[in-house]
Amino acid sequence: MVQISKNLNFDGISPKNLMDATYKAIENFQIRAFFEAKDEILKTGKYSEEEFYEIIDTMIDAETERKLVLEALIGKEPLFLEEISKILKDFPPENVICDIIYLKEQGYIEEHIEVKTKTVIKKIKGEEKEVEEKEFFYRYQVKEIPDDFIEHFFEPVSIVFDSEVCCQCGWCSSICPVNAITVTADTLEINDETCMKCGLCYSVCPRSFSIEQAGKSINKLDKSLKFSEKINGYINTYSATTTKDNIKKVRQDGGIVTSLLEYLLKNKLVDAIVAVKHSEELWKPEPVIVENVKDLYKTSGTKYANASTLSIIDETKKYENIAVVGVPCMMNALKKGYLFPSGQPFFKNIKYRIGLFCMESFPYEGVLNLIKDQFDKDFKKVTKMDISGGKFIIYLDSGEDFGVPLKEVKSYARHNCHFCEDLTADYADISVGSIGSPSGWSTVITRNKKGDKIYKDAIKAGLIESKSLKEVKPGQPLLERIAGTKRKNCKSIKLEKK
Ligand SMILES: Cc1cc2nc3c(=O)[nH]c(=O)nc-3n(C[C@H](O)[C@H](O)[C@H](O)COP(=O)(O)OP(=O)(O)OC[C@H]3O[C@@H](n4cnc5c(N)ncnc54)[C@H](O)[C@@H]3O)c2cc1C
Ligand code: SF4
Ligand code: SF4
Ligand code: SF4
Repeated sequence: MVQISKNLNFDGISPKNLMDATYKAIENFQIRAFFEAKDEILKTGKYSEEEFYEIIDTMIDAETERKLVLEALIGKEPLFLEEISKILKDFPPENVICDIIYLKEQGYIEEHIEVKTKTVIKKIKGEEKEVEEKEFFYRYQVKEIPDDFIEHFFEPVSIVFDSEVCCQCGWCSSICPVNAITVTADTLEINDETCMKCGLCYSVCPRSFSIEQAGKSINKLDKSLKFSEKINGYINTYSATTTKDNIKKVRQDGGIVTSLLEYLLKNKLVDAIVAVKHSEELWKPEPVIVENVKDLYKTSGTKYANASTLSIIDETKKYENIAVVGVPCMMNALKKGYLFPSGQPFFKNIKYRIGLFCMESFPYEGVLNLIKDQFDKDFKKVTKMDISGGKFIIYLDSGEDFGVPLKEVKSYARHNCHFCEDLTADYADISVGSIGSPSGWSTVITRNKKGDKIYKDAIKAGLIESKSLKEVKPGQPLLERIAGTKRKNCKSIKLEKK
């Protein structure tokens, strides 16, 4: 992916141009704030001195590259990201794509969106009908930059929370170099006295600026990937179930997530896993770091309340390799932290990202109210909750089950999930959900070579029974339809300072 190391990318740049660009780069507010707060950062113990210099080095390299990209684009007409990455041959195309998105956010580049309408034939309730579909085309061009232009300042993420779009993923609190942010499942607080206004939290937050166009364009560079507007880039789609009886007892659907994680732990591909377990309050998820298979089984099964899982990533520093399980907004956050601001992962130990499909999640109180209002049952007697066949279903310890149509439970969902367009965890290595597969089976999307390899290795190890998603019904068409609906209904984000 993004490679900026030891200035190798600058080999083709003249020393004068490189010097000018570096000089401009170190004026960047983020780099200055980070550098000036060195003592405070080292005092928190979050990053070692070596890591501090590694991070600042790559931030300067990335900012220098952006200045060079900007210079090369002045006077050019609006272009697609892929076109720009082909013109600017000095740098890896992935870098150029990320640079453009970041330069836009810094205020140098304008995004031109063109909407075209095309007529397509669709089967609606068994009948073929002509339907108008909108297509969006994104082009980018350097703005007229006045002499007194000041690069945009990135606000701390209180702006995201105050705008009521924070998904409470917790990533900002792990990234913040001075531990100024505290995130729970419903709250976000920033200690103004500690915050050194570096804006790093904003750079990595999945709800600040969108990485959708960058993600799609980077995927399209990889010719081994298939691409769908609805479920994004992927290697392959499968339907699968665990072969392990112990996992069958605790799983949500096919038990694929637990099986894959067991494979990773047993084969020492990871030393620990970040997932969620039940907290002391039943059905309230609690983020947890798991080191062994026995504890792993305690994480199986879906808890429909949200958890700020990524807020504990900074507790995983002692592990060399970890896997993280989470819903799509969390996978987006991890990807963004990898791409921005510098292509330098703050936590290089994150080796595997297992994403869950997710239509929406609920506040904990929302789950309790839903069970009381819609089912009139004691939540302590609920052994499993599920969303299946258009219904929200609860299973009781008596062996009975009850379901209500999904539309009846929508009002209990979290408000900020309405700003989420991703059903299938576009940015995971492997995405897993139930939509598309029969009961007791999971739908699996392998997103890249690494994800496809561990999936196939877990099959070879006898942990998973797998078929192509084409072999099962309702299969990929239903998955694509629901994923498309989620994208279409997603509300756009407007950040407002309060
Ligand atoms: C909030 C939420 C909404 C979902 N909505 C849909 C949906 O609309 N359609 C669909 O097809 N699938 C949805 N899923 C995914 C589905 O419920 C299963 O998690 C998925 O099919 C994997 O099943 P499995 O048997 O392989 O998982 P298991 O082997 O049972 O493992 C489940 C994993 O999920 C993790 N997990 C459980 N709850 C949470 C949580 N709240 N936050 C983060 N991680 C959690 C656990 O840590 C565990 O690792 C949703 C999941 C969640 C958490
Ligand atoms: S990183 Fe996550 S928790 Fe932090 S502000 Fe953004 S969405 Fe909220
Ligand atoms: S809260 Fe955000 S802006 Fe403030 S120090 Fe932490 S990462 Fe930087
Ligand atoms: S709908 Fe989106 S924002 Fe809400 S929990 Fe799921 S992935 Fe996160």
